[in-house]
Amino acid sequence: MSAQKRKNLAARKTYFIYYTKNTAFQSNEFIVGKPKLGITNEIATRFTKTLYYYFPLWYTFFMKKIVLASSNKGKIKEISEMLGSDYQVLSMAEAGFDKEIEETGKTFEENSFIKARTACDALSLPVLADDSGLEVDFLGGAPGVYSARYSGEPVDNARNRALLLKNMQNANDRKARFVCVMTLCLPNGKTFSTRGSVEGRILKEETGNNGFGYDSLFYSDDLNKSFGEASDEEKNGVSHRGRALKEMIKILKTL
Ligand code: IMP
Repeated sequence: MSAQKRKNLAARKTYFIYYTKNTAFQSNEFIVGKPKLGITNEIATRFTKTLYYYFPLWYTFFMKKIVLASSNKGKIKEISEMLGSDYQVLSMAEAGFDKEIEETGKTFEENSFIKARTACDALSLPVLADDSGLEVDFLGGAPGVYSARYSGEPVDNARNRALLLKNMQNANDRKARFVCVMTLCLPNGKTFSTRGSVEGRILKEETGNNGFGYDSLFYSDDLNKSFGEASDEEKNGVSHRGRALKEMIKILKTL
């Protein structure tokens, strides 16, 4: 047997011992918890990758699971990509949660907490929730937490944009920001929260066809173009969600 092969086998064996001893087959504490054998996360990650290479299906079974309290496929994809290969991001439906959670909070913090804690208590899994919206200075911070339903129900992004343009007709101060608050709730009762924002201005007409929601009306100071004109990559690099998630990933790595 070649030295390389022996090395790979040893790595796989150690990885297996590490995971079986520490996870007790997916104890919630481990999922985002500290390895208990004193093996560092970096070494565990290296073994994870070795295992993934040889046994992709088996690996998926052992990946750290995190539920995203959202049914928005775009958000799930964006967050999965940022979390990388160590995490398996599950939608609420995939995790077995199908109830509507009412967002009764008055702040982004309250709403993201309500979503994360409700799902976490029901599933006994770590749950990450976000709440986001657009704050416009001239409108005293509106539409804020009511961004999705700004022009009433059912949610209609085109109608929301039309109402925003109408309400901003005579505005000289067009400063605005997207805000995102992420909350991670763990089954042991712990809660972590991060906030990200991106500054810009409300345009006088729609510009660009990319993105969703208010993107085509939001001129980003960071990108010097509207979010409607930006590629996914450009937007993710500066976005409120990207920034909140970056901070959340730092927290996840310390757990
Ligand atoms: P939620 O956090 O998914 O509830 O989003 C609330 C609403 O804020 C969305 O329906 C959009 O109208 C708006 N919004 C939040 N983030 C963005 C964004 O990145 N681009 C455009 N609109 C956004």
